[in-house]
Amino acid sequence: MKKDKFISLVSKWAKKIDVVYKEIHLRKMKRKWASCSTRGRLTFDPELLNQSNQFITESIVHELLHFKYPNHGRMFKLMMKTYLKNY
Ligand SMILES: [Zn+2]
Repeated sequence: MKKDKFISLVSKWAKKIDVVYKEIHLRKMKRKWASCSTRGRLTFDPELLNQSNQFITESIVHELLHFKYPNHGRMFKLMMKTYLKNY
């Protein structure tokens, strides 16, 4: 996936989930594909863009949901399922 397409996919999902982020960064990470900060900064590993579209989408939704749910509790899992079931 090209970077432009990736960025617009993130913004599409942010609208859908109704969260606001301030910045997106692409930066090599050691142990994970993505992270988010409480100040609204999203960071994704550039390698993520070489994964399947489905995996990319899941990673985006995962990080954006953390703006609403900081942990991986029941609500987090429920929302993951809700947003990704029709994908
Ligand atoms: Zn997580």
